Amino acid sequence: MRIENKTYRFYSLFLCFVVSMPLHFQFSILNFPFLIILCTRAIYSEVHSMEVLKIGSTGPDVKVVQSLLNRAAFNAGTVDGVFGRQTQQAVMAFQRLFGLSADGVVGAATWAIMEKYLKGYDVYTVRPGDTLYRIARNYGTTVRDIVMANPGVNLAFIYPGQRLVVPYWIEVVFTDVDYTYDEMVRDIEGLKARYPFLETGIAGKSVLGKNLYYLRLGRGPKEVFYNASHHAIEWITTPLVMKFAENYLKAYAQGTSLRGYDIQKLWDQVSIYIMPMVNPDGVDLAIRGLTRDNPYYSQLLQWNRTGQPFSKVWKANIRGVDLNRNYPAGWEQAKAMEPSLGIRGPGPTRFGGPYPLSEPETQAVVNFTKMHNFRLVIAYHTQGRVIYWTYQNLTPPESRSIAEAFARASGYEVSNVPYEASYAGYKDWFIQDYRRPGFTMEVGSGTSPVPLSQFPGIYNENEGVMLLGATL
Ligand SMILES: [Zn+2]
Repeated sequence: MRIENKTYRFYSLFLCFVVSMPLHFQFSILNFPFLIILCTRAIYSEVHSMEVLKIGSTGPDVKVVQSLLNRAAFNAGTVDGVFGRQTQQAVMAFQRLFGLSADGVVGAATWAIMEKYLKGYDVYTVRPGDTLYRIARNYGTTVRDIVMANPGVNLAFIYPGQRLVVPYWIEVVFTDVDYTYDEMVRDIEGLKARYPFLETGIAGKSVLGKNLYYLRLGRGPKEVFYNASHHAIEWITTPLVMKFAENYLKAYAQGTSLRGYDIQKLWDQVSIYIMPMVNPDGVDLAIRGLTRDNPYYSQLLQWNRTGQPFSKVWKANIRGVDLNRNYPAGWEQAKAMEPSLGIRGPGPTRFGGPYPLSEPETQAVVNFTKMHNFRLVIAYHTQGRVIYWTYQNLTPPESRSIAEAFARASGYEVSNVPYEASYAGYKDWFIQDYRRPGFTMEVGSGTSPVPLSQFPGIYNENEGVMLLGATL
């Protein structure tokens, strides 16, 4: 059941105004344009895809709630996506703490509070007698973190009615949950609030109109590009680059180093561009499954003839095009291979599309690449713990030594590309058009989708690779 509807939005908006108007007129605490922004933002960001969760509910949103409750020390048990007794007890304890009726159901009111925690910050209105120290203590955070989240604000003189961004103590990027598009959007918003110097943008839109976000870490003239989740069931690569972004931002903000790298120095030398989710429609299909409201509902049922759920097999975008076989680099050769691979049209994998760059996602990645001057690119995939670094005879000579350095940093093997995957991928196109180092990193072991239990290992193996890539 979803409570995302227009009536609800209207009433919430109305209520927000009713509550805030007296503040505006009697005390001039809120000026009018700010009030409008505040209300519409509050409604639109919080109502977004909330689902009522209760005992018996299952799925990715349950995992998010469990992970959050555990982090806030309410002990919801294993993060397994099944809303059982223990999760219910934890929800009730959470509700009691916030003065809500403790019914153990995650409805609109409970979600509204949880959303703030998930984004990792609250907007606090200063009250008479407040001090920064007291606010920080009440939120369990530090004065330093509040200062960081409010640049350009003179915090030596805070005054009643002033609105401050107050970050919570918990980390923004959760890595034990199924990382949907919504999760990524929430985390990008959370990172921006906590680290306002983070630059983000939108490089294009997916077939279903989702934003293809990018993040820029650093301000330096040298540019590198890391992207993830070209392939739907390989979505574990998205929290990989998102967690890297969070740790990089934190190190920069706190003036600490990361694996011996001086991030303050690196920040001025390099711009690390990250596109965390190239294929958001496919990722959501793989995580949430096929729902009736999908405009490709009936086609997708036909295109997936594997007898397996989408969560196990779907790599393509929502039109059944394998994005990493859609780039204009030997596209015709890849196409010619399709019949022998049993590919006859749109499907879970290996269909290269009707023509090169037929998909908005690959167009966006290519346009984004052309707008920059990338010294090096890494496309993150799963699995095999292997590094691909060549494209035909066009690979620049330095690629080998860089691949070997990545291998030393990660413990992965350097390998030649298997024949059936040797064309029309992003790194192939990058190497062909720029004659610069481009890599495909295949993270994790076993079969895709690699389980989240591998995340800590995968992160540990690749943090050094992403740092090294920025310095080469
Ligand atoms: Zn892949």
